[in-house]
Amino acid sequence: MERMVYEVRDVSKLYKKGKVKANEDITFDIPEGEILGVLGPNGAGKSTLIKQMVGHLKPTEGRILFAGEDVSKQTRKVASLVAYYSQEPHVLSALKTYEALAFTGRLRGMTKSAADREAEELLEQFGMTELRNKQLKHLSGGQKRMVGIGTVLIGHSPVMIFDEPTNELDPKNRRLVWNLIKERNRQGTTVILVTHNVLEAEQVVHRVAVINHGRLLDIDAVSRLKQKVDQRLKFELSTEFGRKEEVMAALAYWGSMQDNGENRLVLLVEKQEASRMLDHIIRHPELPIEEYAVKPPSLEDVYFHIDEQVRKEAALV
Ligand code: ADP
Repeated sequence: MERMVYEVRDVSKLYKKGKVKANEDITFDIPEGEILGVLGPNGAGKSTLIKQMVGHLKPTEGRILFAGEDVSKQTRKVASLVAYYSQEPHVLSALKTYEALAFTGRLRGMTKSAADREAEELLEQFGMTELRNKQLKHLSGGQKRMVGIGTVLIGHSPVMIFDEPTNELDPKNRRLVWNLIKERNRQGTTVILVTHNVLEAEQVVHRVAVINHGRLLDIDAVSRLKQKVDQRLKFELSTEFGRKEEVMAALAYWGSMQDNGENRLVLLVEKQEASRMLDHIIRHPELPIEEYAVKPPSLEDVYFHIDEQVRKEAALV
């Protein structure tokens, strides 16, 4: 039987400050050896969920089991087995690059010589050997991020959590990071990948948990999530300045609508409805639409589509 690394059960998190319900009734499992993407726009509740999974925050309701035991009752064990690097300001910033890595390795229980060796190896892989004695606070954003990724990789923890790992990285380093993640996974590491960059993550992850407004909207393989939007076409529209609401009201009937900022809208429409909708637009030249384009939807469109489905269903109940 598959062993579960994590079992998340009915987890809700309410931040007292601002009375924000950042997670609501979230339930899912992560089997050993999986690469799970946690996907959702900014403010969706991803970091809140992860912080509870690593024991930095306690769920307001529900519980999270790590290897069958409650995380909040074994924070030390979780800290020693789950390597996590958050996006938040680096507590290690006064350390030299090399020290930050080796020090993290020591904290994970490595011997000094093993930690030193792996720190050097990682710096070499990253092409950062000549920066080994530079303090983190003097590195560029991208270089700091690479060191952050190094702090997750060092010590070969059985579970690794990466929070937006490729932000600020150039294409070469992005590729390097994805390859390293895949390689570690092949060696048996369970990986959780928090990201809003769907297009990149979809090459790497086995399943994706789609989160928005604090709720888990869906969790499935990339191909199956894609199928859910494959029956649709994506219309990208731009409207006359200040007249977006009119277009939204006129076209909402045809599918899931997303406001893409400024004068842009995206509409996902069932394939069999698409020609009727085009016909509608053509017959109504008074609609203040400046341009439109039709494209196949990508996984990136999944979360707003699913989100809208869930809201529509909720409205019907
Ligand atoms: P994400 O990681 O998906 O961007 P977060 O988990 O950081 O989302 O945030 C989810 C919601 O909780 C947001 O509305 C955010 O403003 C709020 N939030 C996050 N951290 C705190 C906090 N420490 N106190 C109060 N509200 C918070």
